[in-house]
Amino acid sequence: IERTFSIIKPDAVAKNIIGEIYHRFECAGLHIIAAKMLHLSQEQAAGFYAEHKGKPFYDNLLKFMTSGPIVVQVLEGQDAIRRHRELLGSTDPEKAQAGTIRADHAISVTQNAVHGSDSAESAAREIEFFFTEDEIC
Ligand code: ATP
Repeated sequence: IERTFSIIKPDAVAKNIIGEIYHRFECAGLHIIAAKMLHLSQEQAAGFYAEHKGKPFYDNLLKFMTSGPIVVQVLEGQDAIRRHRELLGSTDPEKAQAGTIRADHAISVTQNAVHGSDSAESAAREIEFFFTEDEIC
């Protein structure tokens, strides 16, 4: 049993597909064990995406991620990190495999609907960034 961290980004919240995305997680055997909706501040977004500071897309990424509410969740299940990433598809929706969330819903490489931790280390860091242990069921 593994935990991973997931974000439904502002574009997907605006498209009213939170439930559609949650349904995919549940169908894949990923349990939502913590969740909240929030609007990231500039400081929070910069903290979360610190590793991308200086990259050409960084300013746009921060602008987008602070543009509206997001939903953050902790998912638990067998092989959760890899399974979650599989459901998301490639970062660039043009390259995302058919049937993935990004292929079906992402608008662009920046406005790409969802985020998922890419390793156990980032999952632990990202879960801790948004949740205290007593907020996780
Ligand atoms: P995420 O971390 O959100 O699951 P990822 O791991 O597939 O996505 P990262 O390389 O960590 O992608 O980039 C984080 C986010 O920054 C991407 O999800 C996307 O919104 C944005 N991004 C990444 N690369 C580009 C790019 N070349 N142009 C524009 N935006 C980008």
